[in-house]
Amino acid sequence: MGGRTQTDDHTRLGGERQKGLLSVIVPCFNEEKALPYFYAEATKVLSEMPVRYEIVLVDDGSRDGTLRLAKELSGRDRHVRYLSFSRNFGKEAAMYAGFCNVHGDYVVVMDADLQDPPSLLPKMLRIIQGGEYDSVATRRENREGEPPVRSFCARLFYRIVNRISDADIVDGARDFRLMTRDMVDAIVAMGEYNRFSKGIFGWVGFRTYWLAYENVERVAGETKWSFWKLLRYALDGIINFSQAPLSAVSWFGIVMTFLAVIVLIVLVVRRLVWGDPVAGWASLACIIIFIGGLELFCLGIIGQYVSRIFLETKHRPHFIVEDSNVEDVKKIR
Ligand code: UDP
Ligand code: MG
Repeated sequence: MGGRTQTDDHTRLGGERQKGLLSVIVPCFNEEKALPYFYAEATKVLSEMPVRYEIVLVDDGSRDGTLRLAKELSGRDRHVRYLSFSRNFGKEAAMYAGFCNVHGDYVVVMDADLQDPPSLLPKMLRIIQGGEYDSVATRRENREGEPPVRSFCARLFYRIVNRISDADIVDGARDFRLMTRDMVDAIVAMGEYNRFSKGIFGWVGFRTYWLAYENVERVAGETKWSFWKLLRYALDGIINFSQAPLSAVSWFGIVMTFLAVIVLIVLVVRRLVWGDPVAGWASLACIIIFIGGLELFCLGIIGQYVSRIFLETKHRPHFIVEDSNVEDVKKIR
């Protein structure tokens, strides 16, 4: 069964679910340099796989020629569909839009920069078609080509987040993951506004097969992740999947109060028994500043949660599609 010969009903895509279809979601933000390489490589692999496929390019408000290229590719190749956002909403929103708008029995998310090697797809499909697993996830074995500070921080993040959160987040896990329709439906049902997919994938459960591979550097263009963006992402991961910081704040409060009571008793006893005057405004000032700082820090942690509640309660859409050739496209969700 060649993929190419079975594509005639592809024009019916959209609407209901398609049996035996593999949907490839590709979030693209300013990827005009990398996308042609991705398209060529992915098409080469996919057309030789025993399955029908569609490639859904999600243009996340790119400012370069990504959309033009996506339109051109979809005009040329009936396997290609595109969705284009009204502005940059971020990779999480792009993935969500993809999940909401594909109809395959199997769904895979891949970066446009070939850091997720298409050559792994046949193996992943074989594993999932075996029926034993609902998801085939990938993990980088090493972090070669990455600055050492970044690797160190990443390791630290995974250690912390796994200790305190209820989602299993694997070190080096990529968003490159092949899933069954059941799992994708579960992910779509998680309509939270603050999305952290690495946590969501773990949270929904299902049987997951982990596939490790050597890190590959991006084929062209530049990474969109600065150190600060990564740090914010890491904080998101912790706050979205753990209440541990909130309990820590309560414990801080309890311990501090307890210490203050003990110090107070000591001071009163010293005054009454030995008649020692309480001396030293400098030490007092230090204590006040220390406690004040601690209070603000704790308020900040609570504020992080409150700001997320604020965003969740507004029920703003995750994405707004401005242009697309997907039939029955969900434009806003
Ligand atoms: N991406 C996106 N929206 C963004 C940032 C990134 O859709 O706001 C896409 C990007 O085009 C790429 C994938 O997400 O296909 C991963 O981005 P990148 O390669 O910059 O991240 P890295 O691999 O360095 O973690
Ligand atoms: Mg990349």
